Amino acid sequence: MLLPPSLPVLLLPSWGLGLREELGHAVSAALQLHPASDPGPYPGPDPNPNPDAWVCVSVDYTNFFNSISRPAVFRALLNTPQFADLYPFLSMLYSKASPAKLWADLGVQMWDDILSQEGVHQGCTFGSFLACLGLQPILEEVAANMESGFVVAYVDDVKINAPAPVAHAAYMSLRELSRTLLGLEEEPTKGSVIWEGPGDVDVSMFPPTLPGVASRLLVDKHAGVYVGDARPESVAAVKAALQTKLEDKAGLIARLALIDSPQIRIALLRACASARPGFWMRTMSPSLTVDSATWYDARMREALSDAMLTPLTDHAWRLSTLPCRFGGLGITSALASSDGAHYASWAASWHNIVTMFPQAIPLAAVDLPISTLPFAVALCSAHRSTDSSLTALTDNINQHPLPSCAPSNPSIPSPSELSQRFPRAQKCFAAVVHSARWLDVFDQATPAHRALILSHSHQGANFAFSAVPSSHHGAMLPISYVTAAQRLLRLPLTATAPLHGSTCKCGARIDSYGDHLLSCIHCLHLRTGAWHDAIQHVVMRMARFAGFNVSVDSRRLIAPVYSPHHIPDLSLIHAAPNGGHVLIDVTTTSVTKGTALPAAAQIPGVAAQGAEAVKRRVYGNVTPHRVVPFAVEEGGALGKEALGFLLWCRKRVRADSPSFDLAEMNWSSRGFSNWAFQCLSLANAKGLGHYFTSACSCIQHS
Ligand SMILES: [Zn+2]
Repeated sequence: MLLPPSLPVLLLPSWGLGLREELGHAVSAALQLHPASDPGPYPGPDPNPNPDAWVCVSVDYTNFFNSISRPAVFRALLNTPQFADLYPFLSMLYSKASPAKLWADLGVQMWDDILSQEGVHQGCTFGSFLACLGLQPILEEVAANMESGFVVAYVDDVKINAPAPVAHAAYMSLRELSRTLLGLEEEPTKGSVIWEGPGDVDVSMFPPTLPGVASRLLVDKHAGVYVGDARPESVAAVKAALQTKLEDKAGLIARLALIDSPQIRIALLRACASARPGFWMRTMSPSLTVDSATWYDARMREALSDAMLTPLTDHAWRLSTLPCRFGGLGITSALASSDGAHYASWAASWHNIVTMFPQAIPLAAVDLPISTLPFAVALCSAHRSTDSSLTALTDNINQHPLPSCAPSNPSIPSPSELSQRFPRAQKCFAAVVHSARWLDVFDQATPAHRALILSHSHQGANFAFSAVPSSHHGAMLPISYVTAAQRLLRLPLTATAPLHGSTCKCGARIDSYGDHLLSCIHCLHLRTGAWHDAIQHVVMRMARFAGFNVSVDSRRLIAPVYSPHHIPDLSLIHAAPNGGHVLIDVTTTSVTKGTALPAAAQIPGVAAQGAEAVKRRVYGNVTPHRVVPFAVEEGGALGKEALGFLLWCRKRVRADSPSFDLAEMNWSSRGFSNWAFQCLSLANAKGLGHYFTSACSCIQHS
């Protein structure tokens, strides 16, 4: 069957990695739809088996960016109306009269200029774009002369997909045009030819040095993705290649032990190490990635246990691999994310690839569920797994409270619905998978731990754990950080280890998780000390940034008398709508103390609500002034009044305060509310850590 040529596409890196995934998916689907059939049990001496089977020829150039003809690139720029406006600017960057210079050290104090006269500049922001523009007309010409198949490229990574004879003609034509028009030399040893199906394909017309010609390849790489075919030895080779890659990527995890600070170790584990397998989890079938994902997760869990000074339980590991906004430590589990990520990758690209290459991929979305092609089987299996997360979330059979960041109208499209575009699939599906995992972790938790998880899952509550620590912002003492994280994960607290199992001077048994120490009457004074003051300091800064006239009443020699019973921490002079003062009282509260626990394990924010009520009662009637109890739960959840005050400050900062500026920005927070949430969460986590250290010595030495 002869198919009309499909247009090649130019895939620019600036359009995002999504297109790189589309390239890989398009090639896999096209090859699997045009496989080489099995020769049967008694193969005859067929000199040209499977002439219709498609091959994918990967083309690689020697020194692409440095060799591509600069005049050809600029001719292409002028010939492309969408980009021609860039010509005056870019021709200045690439000036003929005064070319950019590199300097080379030619030996002992001998230096010379190397003029940039060909190719695109090293490190130039427009480099890949210009090189793509130069290559595009040639790819179009080659594709236009193909009677079937298609050409795709990601910058210089060119794939010709067609029946072997057609692909060969296109390959020869591409080589010739690239050499004569762009000055590019194709390098066969760096390219490859592969196909799908159990049978052989005659590829003897290709250069013998092109990998795949002399003997069929077991594994190849397309835009970084490992690809193979359905033969068992190929499946094994693809798995092994990925395993080797992840072992290489895991080198960073092993080196984390060199760093003293557990906070920096875990930040690196979260932001650098745990994100590394993501690209392969998205692009490769979960059946191929499951083994190495399991292996990689085990390495991360070891490193986390090491940083936390205690082995993680299965439950603690699952909680640490929830995003920070879900009350976790934000570490990405390769295994737990692979099904959702893989299905989302297809959901985001299916519409585009069948629209771009309708002849190459003649498969309707409605036929995906019944297709036996490996890619369709894998995406349907990934869908079933993701869909079961959706069911767990929407059924919520135990009627647990949901975290505030759970999606309000969750949905996962079925494979037959993929004829539509789902550009936000990664984000949406991940939210569903995380919510279902959150429910599972919550369901398995003890009541005390449930109360903590609810508190940590409040808006902004866990921002301390996503802060990038630096000496001037966010860095915590190692023991404080570890204590806060251990308390969150319900691991025995290292800071209070000498007391575990002993009897407190109040007569109660001291548990290893800190529940008793947080509610013991003998430690009450610690709650109004450094922990309280750290939060008060942040509230004061918030108020000042918001342009309030702040009086720090707790520090004044003669305290103002607003209430016969109590002195506020801060008062905002004439800030109330009626001209009265706003009296702010900061208070921290534990969600696991006896009276609060039963409700706090079921209702988010109820401990803070109770603390607010207590404060209001203490103050009594202070008319014409107004009391704002600023309650912070130990897990970081803010009370209603505290959150309302934060939002009030944010509004004023936007409206008329120039004082909050870039100086307050850091690597991990932007904007006033992020900054405020993060500072409060950090002050709270530091305070909690400090509390347990002091409580331990207080009980021990009394
Ligand atoms: Zn006690």
